[in-house]
Amino acid sequence: MKYINKNFYIEGVKASKLANKFHTPLYCYSYKKLKENIYNFKNNFRSLNPIICFAVKANSNLTLLKEIGKFGLGADVVSMGELTQVLKAGIKPKKIVFSGVGKTSEELSFAIDKKILLINTESKNEVLELERLAKNKKRIVNLGIRLNPNTDAKTLSKISTGKKEDKFGVSEKVFLELVKYAEKSKYINLKCLSVHIGSQILNHRPYEKMLKVVDRIIKKSNYKFDFIDLGGGMGIPYYKKSKTLNYKKYVFAIKKILKNYKSKIIFEPGRSIIGNTGVLISKVIYVKSSSKKSFIILDAAMNDLMRPALYGAEHEIIPEKKTNQFAGKTYEFVGPICESTDKFMTSKKFQKLSEKDLVIISDVGAYGMSLSSNYNIRLKPPEILVKGYKTNIIKKRQKLKDLI
Ligand SMILES: *Cc1c(COP(=O)(O)O)cnc(C)c1O
Repeated sequence: MKYINKNFYIEGVKASKLANKFHTPLYCYSYKKLKENIYNFKNNFRSLNPIICFAVKANSNLTLLKEIGKFGLGADVVSMGELTQVLKAGIKPKKIVFSGVGKTSEELSFAIDKKILLINTESKNEVLELERLAKNKKRIVNLGIRLNPNTDAKTLSKISTGKKEDKFGVSEKVFLELVKYAEKSKYINLKCLSVHIGSQILNHRPYEKMLKVVDRIIKKSNYKFDFIDLGGGMGIPYYKKSKTLNYKKYVFAIKKILKNYKSKIIFEPGRSIIGNTGVLISKVIYVKSSSKKSFIILDAAMNDLMRPALYGAEHEIIPEKKTNQFAGKTYEFVGPICESTDKFMTSKKFQKLSEKDLVIISDVGAYGMSLSSNYNIRLKPPEILVKGYKTNIIKKRQKLKDLI
């Protein structure tokens, strides 16, 4: 994705051409970028030979899941809907893990029937419920227990999940009790310790801390885990001068603890696989000026891309066509929704924009479309996959009749 002669391209296709053909707002993904990310991820962790389960909540588009599956990745799902979707995408049950703090009996039962790799439980009561269902079905079910390692991921507070005040996982004490409990049960087979301390992590130190806790607790439990599921959370650069995660140091820290055990590593990356593969193309509806700043009112809104409103996350916005004529005043990029949080970013130095101009909202492949909603009865945008010069509609724009 880059500029060629001042115009923005997704692989071989001009963004303005896509906007004309499919209208805006419009999600658009690059196949090449996806392939590159998966290749890089595998390469970074090659020496561990891990099982890689794509975190489907980052992007649940069926075509993208099929493509991801073709590269050999499995899936990490958090609901019956996601589990159904990845099975439909052709991902094998033996490559699927089921995470989440509140899986219902119906969801657990469905997952048992599908014979997936692991159900990662997050509380004592969930373990008991899983055992009850397994007993009813006369089955032995493979499970993991998610540990809350009480480690600060040093990321946005709203996407931190590994501190003791977070709802996720179980404490060390409960973890050790559950290991003992599982050892005695005839119906549950404890295979995995899982952790996931948060998302958009750019510093390897929280991972090192988490690994120390994992190491200590495995030693204490004196239990042989077939799998250690380290979750996802690997951050990506959302702006030019951003730090990047030091994968070498993360791998080094993992290897240090793995010396003691023969466990297989599982990763559940979402953002690092899909985040930078997608852009949201949007058109300026109005430029609303006051003396100090102008509101650039886009046709994309918080219902299309929720991250800025939900987490205070920032996505770079760039012009579709570069002119090098600067606006000379502050631009505030907003959507049309009746909420003050429906705001993407503020820029003190942007090129002059006029009505009908196109802009590109960057790095929206993860938690973009998957977090979209119909708030204000706005239609969800379509998704396009670009492969070289070819474009493929992988999700159609919703129609009013779908909603009303
Ligand atoms: C969200 C989530 C992931 C993926 O996180 P990323 O930051 O997108 O890599 C992995 N595992 C679990 C349990 C999650 O909740």
